[in-house]
Amino acid sequence: MSKENPVLFVIFGGSGDLAHRKLYPALFQLFQKGQLDQHFAVIGTARRPWTHEYFRQTVQDNLHEGTPEQQAAFAAHFYYQSHDVQDAAHYVILKKLIDELDQKYQLQGNRIFYMAMAPALFGTIAQYLRSEDLLSHDGFSRLIIEKPFGHDYDSAKELNDAIVNTFDSDQVFRIDHYLGKEMVQTLPYLRFANPMINASWNHDYIDNVQITLAESLGVEERGGYYETAGALRDMVQNHIMQVIAMLTFPEPDTLCDQTVEAAREQVFTHLHQLSEEEVQANFVRGQYGPSADGKQIGYRQEEKINPQSNVETFVAGEIKLDLPQWQGVPFYVRTGKRLPEKKTRIDVVFKKATSNLFGGESLAAPVLTIEVEPESGFVFSINGKQVGTGTEAVLHDLRYQLSDADQQLVPDAYERLLLEVVRGHQSNFVQWQDMAGAWHFVDKIRQAWEQCDCPDFPNYASGSMGPKAADELLAKTGRHWIYQG
Ligand code: NAD
Repeated sequence: MSKENPVLFVIFGGSGDLAHRKLYPALFQLFQKGQLDQHFAVIGTARRPWTHEYFRQTVQDNLHEGTPEQQAAFAAHFYYQSHDVQDAAHYVILKKLIDELDQKYQLQGNRIFYMAMAPALFGTIAQYLRSEDLLSHDGFSRLIIEKPFGHDYDSAKELNDAIVNTFDSDQVFRIDHYLGKEMVQTLPYLRFANPMINASWNHDYIDNVQITLAESLGVEERGGYYETAGALRDMVQNHIMQVIAMLTFPEPDTLCDQTVEAAREQVFTHLHQLSEEEVQANFVRGQYGPSADGKQIGYRQEEKINPQSNVETFVAGEIKLDLPQWQGVPFYVRTGKRLPEKKTRIDVVFKKATSNLFGGESLAAPVLTIEVEPESGFVFSINGKQVGTGTEAVLHDLRYQLSDADQQLVPDAYERLLLEVVRGHQSNFVQWQDMAGAWHFVDKIRQAWEQCDCPDFPNYASGSMGPKAADELLAKTGRHWIYQG
């Protein structure tokens, strides 16, 4: 039976970096696997006056797998439309091309519009799609939106209002690519398919949870954007919040979209809202300076960066949830640029045994580590007897790591999420309520930071694990980061 899903993709921002580096290779993977086959087409639209042929060549140049014949067969489905999204006349031409391709490839009227360009233009595009009659009458019309979705709650709400004026909520897919990562997808299985883990997944057994999203790169060529964002908006508001939600949402009765969405929403509506004092005490910001060996420049020396910039490239903090199951459990989060290595991992630190049988306080805490990237797997460090004639309890690691063969089966996050949009599955996308809750939360941090003096930036060297204050954040309660870099 054919796995094929007839569909037309219209990529706004089709000449851009995101489209070429992420979207076209992801669509190619779906093509190679037969999820897209004869009945699909892609229109890239952007301002540059490219021809279809030139566009196809740029698409092929960004494919790093498959034979030249397979790449050419894929690229043959691509069309280019030079288009200024602010000009109504262009939508008339675009509609004509959409209708032609719908006929030519028998796409059954199924359309996915991908906003791979500056968010300031999303509302305009959405309105023109409706007013110029580009939405489907006989198939589905779906809209995919990329981050950054606003820069605070008010701007996100404005953007959302502009979109929901045109699209129903079940047509809108807000991408957070962390939700497409294999090990993030594994979290509900780990929790709900193992009764003994499920039973201990709460404040009775868990002491704290640590989430690290470390990047080794600096801002590279994204300086202009980063100066308006910073690590809090770029990583905490979206990716870290989504990881927390996957770790903590209450067990749903079913896996249908609405039930899972409702369970995740519980997390966002129960984020403990921080007072100004709590922000000062429990959130740390940093900015990288040159590396100790002088080989890497500091943030303020990067291209398009204000030499006096006070934008943070590092955040660490403590997040709490006002849900009974999680009462009192700190979620320590940490993200930063120019840390020693690229690493995403979650360390769930369980409480120590209270009995005195094997050393009481000196017993180590069991830790379940979920390695998201670059390694994928988990390590459960649990107490056992020291091997030999000794009597001490020591930690032993139960380790599962995806094999190279398994890794080959793991789809890229964009590939997975694009397929879910084609299939109309919403549960791995960000709902507006979740986004609103996350913005309210980080807006409080931003506002508190604005009320006080900025730390003396730069306050960590490129290649280090961030400012000392991030370690002190845990040390003041007798804890430490399990992952030390
Ligand atoms: P880019 O600058 O490379 O591409 C922008 C695209 O928008 C270009 O194709 C440009 O021609 C088009 N465009 C701009 N104004 C237009 C107009 N008035 N009419 C028609 N087309 C117009 O940017 P990018 O890196 O591809 O990023 C696109 C969006 O996705 C940004 O909001 C970015 O923050 C976000 N994003 C990018 C990445 C990434 O890896 N590049 C990752 C996550 C999110």
